Amino acid sequence: MTPHRQVTSKEIFMGKLPFGSDLTEGLTNVCTERNITLGRIKAIGAVQSAKIGFYNQKSREYEFISFDQPMEITDLTGNVSLRDGKTFVHAHVTLADNAGKTFGGHLAPGTVVFACEFVIEAFAGPQFERTYDEETGLTLWSLE
Ligand code: ZN
Repeated sequence: MTPHRQVTSKEIFMGKLPFGSDLTEGLTNVCTERNITLGRIKAIGAVQSAKIGFYNQKSREYEFISFDQPMEITDLTGNVSLRDGKTFVHAHVTLADNAGKTFGGHLAPGTVVFACEFVIEAFAGPQFERTYDEETGLTLWSLE
């Protein structure tokens, strides 16, 4: 059977992140403050600069791309689970430059918020804990 669990929507929080804050850290802080350990995240807004990752499946390492320029967050989609027993936010972003050209990838620390409006939905259900996955080299949900 395809590994999955049933979860139910518990609470939804809407807010904005402070100017100049770190995007990943800001979203993680909201989850920690609200005791959210399971859920999903959506956000839009703009960044002053950005750092996104691409996972090289051969070398099993992230390759990072940095953008030292303002960009729109045309979409941010993420989830919330546990890693080492702590709230862990995993998000991917699509960013657009001043020509509307988009870039996307794994959201990395080092992305600086200009403005960000987020919606975080907390789920009730079994905990999703991340553990090392041999096949991919990633830290994935352990659902066995
Ligand atoms: Zn990712």
